[in-house]
Amino acid sequence: MALRFYNTLSRKKETFRPLKKGIVKMYNCGPTVYDFAHIGNFRAYVFADLLRRYLEYKGFRVKQVMNITDVGHMSIDDDADSRGEDKIEASARKQHKTPLEISHFYTKAFIEDAKSMNLMKPMKMPKATKHIKEMTALVQKLIKKGHAYVVNGSVYYDVGSFKKYGRLSGNSIEQLRAGARLEVNPEKKNPLDFALWISNPKHVMQWDSPWGRGYPGWHIECSAMSMKYLGDTIDIHTGGEDNIFPHHECEIAQSEGATGKPFVRYWLHIRHLMVNGQKMSKSKGNFYTLRDLLAKGYNPKAIRYLLLSAHYRTRLNFTEDGVKKAEGLIRRFGEFMENMRTGKDNAKSLRAIKKVNKEFEAAMDDDLNMPRALASIFEFMRNLNKSGGGPKAYQTMIAFDSVLGLGLSDIEAWKVAKDAEPEIRKLIKKREELRKTNKWSEADKIRAALTKKGIVIEDTEKGPRWRKVKK
Ligand code: AMP
Ligand code: ZN
Repeated sequence: MALRFYNTLSRKKETFRPLKKGIVKMYNCGPTVYDFAHIGNFRAYVFADLLRRYLEYKGFRVKQVMNITDVGHMSIDDDADSRGEDKIEASARKQHKTPLEISHFYTKAFIEDAKSMNLMKPMKMPKATKHIKEMTALVQKLIKKGHAYVVNGSVYYDVGSFKKYGRLSGNSIEQLRAGARLEVNPEKKNPLDFALWISNPKHVMQWDSPWGRGYPGWHIECSAMSMKYLGDTIDIHTGGEDNIFPHHECEIAQSEGATGKPFVRYWLHIRHLMVNGQKMSKSKGNFYTLRDLLAKGYNPKAIRYLLLSAHYRTRLNFTEDGVKKAEGLIRRFGEFMENMRTGKDNAKSLRAIKKVNKEFEAAMDDDLNMPRALASIFEFMRNLNKSGGGPKAYQTMIAFDSVLGLGLSDIEAWKVAKDAEPEIRKLIKKREELRKTNKWSEADKIRAALTKKGIVIEDTEKGPRWRKVKK
């Protein structure tokens, strides 16, 4: 079956064919580095990572770019022309730091968090402040083409000049005008016009431009960086559903206004991570950072699992209980891997491998239907735990894991006595002998000693098995 994605622009599933055979150009809207990213943000990045991994599984080479926004993203950003204070500068003011110190610190934190979520490194992670020249050049092009105008050192996009404005979000200009809470800005021709370049002496970060000193608007950054690293037309652009309007709508107007070519061929948007029915967000205060959860001792693999386990086009309600359940599933993966590593392939398991491979690919090809793909994997695991399986089943899971990114080969799983270091092995053996002669209290003493060393023991029909736990 062919790979299909739901394209926000056409509102239907379309067969995916990249512009250039075998190569996929993908841009992901990245973090604004004014604070630690919350796990809602990470739902967007884990999805981008999953998408890349699956494309690679299918044999494509993926050129992935994820930007770092370090200027121009304002605190009130749900209207096209955002208002308020620059998020980086507001954070700098509160923490008595410079904007550069803030963006450096949180960029580093983001990269650390991305590692604990096992995100693959993008080909490029460009910073907005390092691309001011590209942005001003793009703005100049838009002025020349009649899509933008200069007033008092600021430059605005003339929304009325771009016929397709509103198409991505399914709005007409009239609807947008009626729905927007617009500030009166006498500089603008049309209240919906949005700033590409802003002159404001109060802004801390400023650069020279053909229109005087100023700073770029948030939307122009992504257009400029996407086109610089990936060309005028790219295959895939991702972001959270809140990015559809205004951010991505404005990116289309800017990029296509400047080049006259299609900007993005497939727009993929992730539905929000929710908390009690509300979007997880900084402003609502209902967020968890990844660090909060890791500090509570939760397994990062379980957090990644939880974020990717729901379909990306359904909202996912976050609870700590959900993470705990995911931890249980990670253990189940670990036990299965151990069973297969030490087991033997048989006719039944070989048939099951064929079946699960087919089902996994069919589910993922259908707009990355992760719940269906996971259901097939769990059925496979249940069956082989019963009827046995070996290294071939293990390798099948490793191949799936190149997509899931859960590190299935290094889960602390149950092991048998012979896998233990000599001292532990001796204790396990001694406990067995004591149990055989009904010396239960002495056997329990050994169990307690092992627990102290961070080893838990479970007795099964085939004998005792053990695993390490955090002390
Ligand atoms: P920001 O740092 O605010 O620019 O957001 C970074 C990315 O996270 C964007 O693609 C947002 O759409 C996405 N995002 C923000 N909140 C959530 C959420 N609760 N669930 C999923 N994605 C989100
Ligand atoms: Zn963006």
